[in-house]
Amino acid sequence: MEITLKPAYIEGKQMRIYLLLLLSTFLFGIQNNTIYKNGQLIFSSGNLHEIRDDVETSVRGYLNDIKTDLGHYSAHEFPLLKQSDGFGASEHLVFQQTENGIPVFGKTIRVHINHKGIISSISSNLKPIHLSTIPTFSKKDALTILKDEVPFSKKSYLKFKELLIYIKNDSPHLVYSIESISFEQSWSYFVDANTNEIVDQFPLTYDEGPTTGSGINLLDEPVDLLQIYEGESFTPFGNLATPNLVCEDYCFDYGDCDGQNYWGCTITASQGDCPDGELEDCNGNCFSEWYMQFPGVGNNFCNDPWIEIDDSQLSTGMFNMVDESHPELGTIYTLNSYGGFYEDLSYVNSTSSVFESVNITNSHESGVSAHDYQRKTLDYFWDYHNYAGINGTGKRTISVVNYFSTSSISQRNAFYNAALDILTYGYGGNGYRPFCAAQDIVTHEFSHGFTAHTSGLIYRNQAGALNESISDVMGYFVEAVYQDGGDWTEGEDVRLSGEGGRSFIHPPAHQQPDHVNHYYFVDYNPNPVWSNDFGGVHTNSGIPNKIMYLVIQGDEHYEIIVEPFEEDIIQSRIVAGNIWFAWNSFYLDKEDDFVIGREKMLQACNDLYPNRLDYYQTVSNAWASTGIGNPILSGDVNDDQVVNIQDIIIMINMIMGNWDATETQLILGDINSDGIIDILDIVGVVNIIMN
Ligand SMILES: [Zn+2]
Repeated sequence: MEITLKPAYIEGKQMRIYLLLLLSTFLFGIQNNTIYKNGQLIFSSGNLHEIRDDVETSVRGYLNDIKTDLGHYSAHEFPLLKQSDGFGASEHLVFQQTENGIPVFGKTIRVHINHKGIISSISSNLKPIHLSTIPTFSKKDALTILKDEVPFSKKSYLKFKELLIYIKNDSPHLVYSIESISFEQSWSYFVDANTNEIVDQFPLTYDEGPTTGSGINLLDEPVDLLQIYEGESFTPFGNLATPNLVCEDYCFDYGDCDGQNYWGCTITASQGDCPDGELEDCNGNCFSEWYMQFPGVGNNFCNDPWIEIDDSQLSTGMFNMVDESHPELGTIYTLNSYGGFYEDLSYVNSTSSVFESVNITNSHESGVSAHDYQRKTLDYFWDYHNYAGINGTGKRTISVVNYFSTSSISQRNAFYNAALDILTYGYGGNGYRPFCAAQDIVTHEFSHGFTAHTSGLIYRNQAGALNESISDVMGYFVEAVYQDGGDWTEGEDVRLSGEGGRSFIHPPAHQQPDHVNHYYFVDYNPNPVWSNDFGGVHTNSGIPNKIMYLVIQGDEHYEIIVEPFEEDIIQSRIVAGNIWFAWNSFYLDKEDDFVIGREKMLQACNDLYPNRLDYYQTVSNAWASTGIGNPILSGDVNDDQVVNIQDIIIMINMIMGNWDATETQLILGDINSDGIIDILDIVGVVNIIMN
């Protein structure tokens, strides 16, 4: 599959790789390393130069030696902007690039001297400037144009700073730097001194914006790269409130908000004065109809606990777990709910960019796990499927970690709240880690959002089992990408014992069926409620889970042989990922069962891989091995579900040229897959018959 990436995103990934390289450099100590860009030295490390006598003079001498490499004949003459003492007797000097005495914005040479008095590294980003440094317009002209163009309030004033050279999109501008200052907010403007136009503007706030940090996760593993936010000027996510519905066993009667029972009424999505596909609640708010499919709506606890959160009430710290690194995939907000259920919420935060507080109320470990695994989940969905954010178009993801049960929802669980599009992870306890400890569980919950925004499979009976399985399967895919091939168990990292909660290879190990005739199979339940697991959604999911295992790994199951999509498991996984993603996104409907699910997966397989009858056969046989549909048997050229003498007769006629074979027959008859049907294939069919 061709994967297209937005350029900004590729840059982000390269940046990460660069940061990792940088970190590994530090780990192995300082080595001699020099990087040039466009023939110009931008970074150099090693024992570069020994400082003698006066530090500044000695450094200037060294800069004079390497000015050709730095790409500027007067690099050694630039003014010293800053000289500071660093950690362990180290020293740091910054020189400002100037042209005719005018500073070039953001362009410097940085020199670092270690405790032994040796220049251990330098970096430089100098730019050659070809520009007249004599302004055409005056300072006063610039102030006048700003007064006209920018709507200043009475309480703001303009302050001239300096004449600068500013490089925008590789072209230098001579600019007047002017600040507009007011009580609420201040801005810095650059006005071109030759055209009298505003070239750029920056907010003058104390917040630094998106940055990177690190931390320790719930498995005591260091996470070197966390996307976080310094300060609190990130985009807020908006208020959260659960719908105020009258709900009696999934029944909603528009207009009756008095909490009475209304037996026999029907939910419709067109109730109230809301757009199509949404319904109006008792407070007059509109909610997407797919909210109604989820547990928590029915069974008398849809409004309990009631969730109503004004996001301005959430507390923040110096550094917050807010990931704005890829806004096109949606911001990730990771919230701390330690000790309660959506009570005293705060952004998981830290006084530094390192999240390793041992104070449990800070939820640093859980935050690091959830934040990191959520980033990886979004990256997988985008990198492999071009699916952005939780809704496919870049909606934010909110994760709430470390909630303690104060209601009917256990803290030894995780759940997706479809009304709020929020993922919530319990604190665990009694043999369990907090529920965000596992990559596959984080992806599982997120994938309920993916399903809610795509097929909308309802959470009941076989449709619900497909919904559950799709979440398990996506969890497997993401773990495989980020954890070296992953594993065939689900949820093993949340249990202190290391035991999984479900098995793809052998679902019965965890009381799930691997065949529709299996003892554990749950029959259709006309009254799917919480107490019967909505008709066995967490039980029957074992069947589609087993199918995923079979198509990727290949195996014999109840005497049906399923060949893997590809011999190389990574390739096999990619094919399965494409089919599962398309199946849920474009083929399945809300109430589909296993039989329809099988047909639609075959359809998706055929549409994605029209020339791959072997893939088609793999999908058919995997479903057939669990008791759904018929297998496609090699050698069964007349498709009567047995391989016998009839098939040999047809194949002889094919070899003799007496039979106008279909493409399917050519593939089914080519037992040894060598591209032709000949006597060797007849021998193969005889062997199949003789077994
Ligand atoms: Zn689930």
